[in-house]
Amino acid sequence: MTDPFAWLAGWIHETLLIPLLWRAGWMQWEDTSFMWALFAVYGVLQVVINYAICVPAERFRPLVRWDRRESVGMDVFYTLLARIGVFPLVTFFGFYWIQTALNGWLTDHGYIPPTLETLFPALLDLPVGTFLIYAVILDAADYWRHRFSHTFGWWYGLHALHHAQRHMTFWTDDRNHVLDDVIGYVWFIAVGLAVGVPPMQFPLLVLTLRLVESFSHANTRIRFGWLGERLLVSPQFHRAHHGLDAAGRNSCNYGGVFPWWDMLFRTADFRHDVVETGDPRVPEALATGSWLQQQVGGLRLSWRLLTRHRRQKVTAG
Ligand SMILES: [Zn+2]
Ligand SMILES: [Zn+2]
Repeated sequence: MTDPFAWLAGWIHETLLIPLLWRAGWMQWEDTSFMWALFAVYGVLQVVINYAICVPAERFRPLVRWDRRESVGMDVFYTLLARIGVFPLVTFFGFYWIQTALNGWLTDHGYIPPTLETLFPALLDLPVGTFLIYAVILDAADYWRHRFSHTFGWWYGLHALHHAQRHMTFWTDDRNHVLDDVIGYVWFIAVGLAVGVPPMQFPLLVLTLRLVESFSHANTRIRFGWLGERLLVSPQFHRAHHGLDAAGRNSCNYGGVFPWWDMLFRTADFRHDVVETGDPRVPEALATGSWLQQQVGGLRLSWRLLTRHRRQKVTAG
């Protein structure tokens, strides 16, 4: 039996993409467009799985109830754009191409890049173990990416778009500035290449990690228990990151999937008292503007925070 995802991708490819390519005279992109369709199918699958898990959690055990939910619609748009548009581009065009080209070039020059399995042959019989190790490494890298995005003002200007949401639901995970997403993926790809993640495992890893991250944004009272929330990032743990502390900062719980990095680097906060999210310090356009207004607003805020010190120096001097 053929893989149902490959079958569906093949169907989309033949009925939709090939006629388009034919008309545009771009038949040389035929193979590439099939791969894009395949990865887009994975993206849709990801949205479906997220939906099936998170919607019941939000509906039956909600944390906050709102009368108006318009801003949630924008997060749905962000999710579809990220998972169906950007995810295939990044995992295939980004990772797959670079990985195969780089490995080909290295092999041509007489160097076989090591993988986890060649370094630790015992892992050859443990594909799940290798997968987990890659997930842990990528998540550690993501902890630092996220922490830096709160450290540097210009970067927080972009990341503030994610934090501006007052109606946080599982859809909020993908509410990001395009530039912030690009930086995040470049970071992820670089680490993935450095540790030798096999190209077809990369999308699967992104898929798995993002599932936990989506759930961690859910508007739900579901608890993981004392041990559970120390093993995997829970909705309460990530909500604490979305709340502002007494000093008006988001300064805890940067971890995306495993809370271990926060525990290790002393940024973990396991209290459950944060309910309200949002960032009143940033322009309202970032919270309730149109997609374009949010993107432009993020760039403006980033520029303002980047030049803040220079301006302060001028006025002080
Ligand atoms: Zn953050
Ligand atoms: Zn978040």
